[in-house]
Amino acid sequence: MSKLPLAGKVALVTGASRGIGAAIATRFARDGARVVVNYASSAAEAEKVVAGIVAAGGQAVAVKANVGNPADIATMFDATIAAFGRLDILVNNAAIMQRLFLPDVTAETIDAHFNVNVRGYLLCCKRAAELMTDGGSIINVGSAISRMAYPGAVVYTATKGAVDLMTRVLAAELGPKGIRVNVLAPGSTRTDMNSEKSGKTKEEEVQEIAATALRRIGEADDIADAAALLAGDDARWITGAWLDASGGIRL
Ligand code: NAP
Repeated sequence: MSKLPLAGKVALVTGASRGIGAAIATRFARDGARVVVNYASSAAEAEKVVAGIVAAGGQAVAVKANVGNPADIATMFDATIAAFGRLDILVNNAAIMQRLFLPDVTAETIDAHFNVNVRGYLLCCKRAAELMTDGGSIINVGSAISRMAYPGAVVYTATKGAVDLMTRVLAAELGPKGIRVNVLAPGSTRTDMNSEKSGKTKEEEVQEIAATALRRIGEADDIADAAALLAGDDARWITGAWLDASGGIRL
């Protein structure tokens, strides 16, 4: 039998209790990785992701950490090493998105978004790079929105633009250490962040489907499969890339 593509690797996926992160953690485990399932508050959901992985014969642990808090980030990486002894893959996925038109933008809402979506990503990249002594793959989950102009999303879009640019710089900086750094940019994907729960209307969904070449909303598994591509050795020559995983939104 051929070896699983991520056999022997350890992956940390932030924000893996729900949505895209949960799908990525599950897919990586299926590909043979041992996985850290990070979450901020949804302990039961995170444990459900872990239980699903273990039931399928994989290895995973859930680790609570708010990536907006630097002390929690340190604890999360310590827990990764304590559980599995190494780190090969980091997926910076945990992010927040609040719909904010300019009149509602405040210093507090800007800080809240940047602390998780940018500072959190960057501090995780820093610690991961220290731990990836045999090289590795860092996947920064961005968004197709950073190449659009979406009213009501100025703060969130700014954070995703920052993710795009810092990924390119880090790809250049960490390449000599054998660490690849790429952006995975989902389009509209069916999760809590992108649903009626977050204020999304049926009309908007219809518009997004019409604006997407493949004529549907993405599913978390669509993004997880693209993440598996970037994580594994088949992507060994890919760094500094911005991988569109949107089904061709607004081409
Ligand atoms: P989601 O359904 O809202 O899930 C967010 C996940 O992140 C949850 O596991 C949540 O944990 C965790 N999280 C939130 N804040 C955190 C924090 N401070 N520290 C640690 N974990 C935290 O989001 P999603 O739609 O799966 O989005 C995942 C990524 O894809 C994000 O980077 C998002 O920007 C990007 N994206 C999504 C879409 C889309 O249409 N859904 C499109 C483009 C890009 P708890 O469960 O504990 O709260």
